[in-house]
Amino acid sequence: RGALYIVATPIGNLEDFSSRAISTLKAVEYIAAEDTRHTKRLLNHFGIETRLFSLHDHNERDKAAYIGELLSQGMSVALVSDAGTPLISDPGYHVVSYLRNKGFLIIPVPGPSALIAALCASGLPTDQFFFAGFLPAKTKSRKDVMSSWKQQSGTVVFYESTHRIIDSMKDVETVFGSKAKLVLAREITKTFETFLSGTAEEILQQFSVDANQLKGEFVVMLDYREETDVESKDIENRRILAVLLEDLP
Ligand code: SAM
Repeated sequence: RGALYIVATPIGNLEDFSSRAISTLKAVEYIAAEDTRHTKRLLNHFGIETRLFSLHDHNERDKAAYIGELLSQGMSVALVSDAGTPLISDPGYHVVSYLRNKGFLIIPVPGPSALIAALCASGLPTDQFFFAGFLPAKTKSRKDVMSSWKQQSGTVVFYESTHRIIDSMKDVETVFGSKAKLVLAREITKTFETFLSGTAEEILQQFSVDANQLKGEFVVMLDYREETDVESKDIENRRILAVLLEDLP
């Protein structure tokens, strides 16, 4: 039986395409791509002539069975998305879970992902993090989701588009005020790669000074602390003082 390869592609800089990714895409019988026209351009650039078919959110369940048939006939298939690692806020989950349940061989060919690239360069805690994917489109639901992060430990990471970045920063400001430190990674690995940091209010201020900062794709990272260090020390000092005062005559 053949194998399904999950192949990461660049998120901007073509030099991030690994040689293993390229040789895998050349070796397989078929490539399942989110957008075949988009992927065709990448393949042309690297001289890869493998046949393509489309696999997106609306045909995933049908394509899972089709890929299963190809693998049963001894063919191998690679799954790619438009950019970065498939399945990470991209199609592929139903295919992988279906085929793994049926015992097929599934092999990751790791590489770029905006999530990890942003987090590792952010300066925010990386020992624990929570990836929230894309947030709901409506403000009310978005704020509900954000409020639930107050129970979450570690850095929260989410994806955001240029169209909604201002609205989502306003919602962060409403929900967390100045208790959340943010880092926004924009256009990672591209010409205008930028990291902005500050509270939501400070980020909105930076947007109003320079509208270029609103262009492109964003990874937003949020570090929320209920108490600042100063506040928590203050509480501890008051507790110790109360204990001491009780013992005084
Ligand atoms: N599967 C991809 C990955 O592994 O990163 C993510 C796909 S998702 C549909 C696209 C989102 O990823 C964008 O809206 C943006 O939030 C983020 N993204 C992708 N490329 C990026 C880049 N070069 N810089 C910043 N964010 C990026």
